[in-house]
Amino acid sequence: MERYQSAADVVQSLRPQYPVFCQRPFAAERAGRWFSTHFPGKSFYAVKANPAPWLVAALQAGGIEHFDVASIKEARLARELVPMATLGFMHPVKSTEAIAEAYFDLGVRIFALDSEAELEKIIAGTSGARDLTLCVRLHVPSGLSKIPLTLKFGIQDGEAAVLMRRSRQVAARLGVCFHVGSQTMAPSVFTMALETVQRAIVRSGVIVDVLDVGGGFPSVYPGMAPPPLEFFVQEIERCFETTMLVAENCELWCEPGRALSAEAASLIVRVEHRTGDCLHINDGVFGALFDAGPLGWRYPVRQLGATGRAVSQAAYSFYGPTCDDFDVMRGPFMLPENIRPGDYIEVGMLGAYSATMRTDYNGFGTHQNVEVADMPMFTQFGLAQAVAASSR
Ligand SMILES: *Cc1c(COP(=O)(O)O)cnc(C)c1O
Repeated sequence: MERYQSAADVVQSLRPQYPVFCQRPFAAERAGRWFSTHFPGKSFYAVKANPAPWLVAALQAGGIEHFDVASIKEARLARELVPMATLGFMHPVKSTEAIAEAYFDLGVRIFALDSEAELEKIIAGTSGARDLTLCVRLHVPSGLSKIPLTLKFGIQDGEAAVLMRRSRQVAARLGVCFHVGSQTMAPSVFTMALETVQRAIVRSGVIVDVLDVGGGFPSVYPGMAPPPLEFFVQEIERCFETTMLVAENCELWCEPGRALSAEAASLIVRVEHRTGDCLHINDGVFGALFDAGPLGWRYPVRQLGATGRAVSQAAYSFYGPTCDDFDVMRGPFMLPENIRPGDYIEVGMLGAYSATMRTDYNGFGTHQNVEVADMPMFTQFGLAQAVAASSR
């Protein structure tokens, strides 16, 4: 891997004709360190956010030893990259073959489920194993999350009790889990979810050994500055300690994807054409910028390698390189008013849900990876957070 001091250095030395994905392993390590020291339980990295080996290694260096996998391929990868890791197979719908391989070949003992049919599959796939931690995924409200995840998974309040009792009979340890939706903007979302969990536990009358609050921890984007992560963790800890009916030795887990990875990468793109306030750039919705398209996600941007005096900023939208009308990112992205073809732009906060969604559609998948040492455009693990943490 080629290393550079900064994204600006990359542009100066390479004048790249293809997009360049800039990796910042130190930023992932810092995020991992934050969770492994501040979360009062176990932090599972949700591998789907970014399964890149450099990122997994950096998180491991930051103290992350648990991984949430959703497919057998993610399970194989996590096992290969971190042989001693604890893996949780947290997708509530798995094939029996995947369950069997995970259990017998990859040492997975933690499985999520949200239906009786899935419980039967887990029993069949593990040949009736007695050493399982089974996490029943509950449906919870996801009101203040930017990306709700309530559609597909999670058993409804009224039906959960039966599944929890059945799972209790099979499991060595019974867990409950949920997902409040990605990029949750308020700690109260977890409070509400934990009230749902509480009700389900009371109704089922079973003892719970694991409380898994899932992912959803936010990162920082333009127009989306969440409260400090500290507040989320404090609220979860408060609920866990004061209101939950759980076993005395109950474990608390979380599964951050975005918050552990978002800061750790950015992307350098080149402006190929300009029409008014619309810039044609050389990466897009079918590349590393999917969320900027259909989800209208606004990433921070800055011009790289600009010289001369400062000019005022203007609001732009982006067109990606493919011929597809879908390949448009409306932003608005704030950049100098005189930006023109041949100029380079760095798009920040792309460590999560970005490179992993890249395709080769229309022949535009070519890109380069480099490592850089300059700071991410935004951070929630910087000095202010360190001071706040040390004064606890
Ligand atoms: C996607 C996912 C996560 C990670 O969510 P983030 O919003 O990235 O933190 C965690 N757990 C499960 C089950 C998921 O599907």
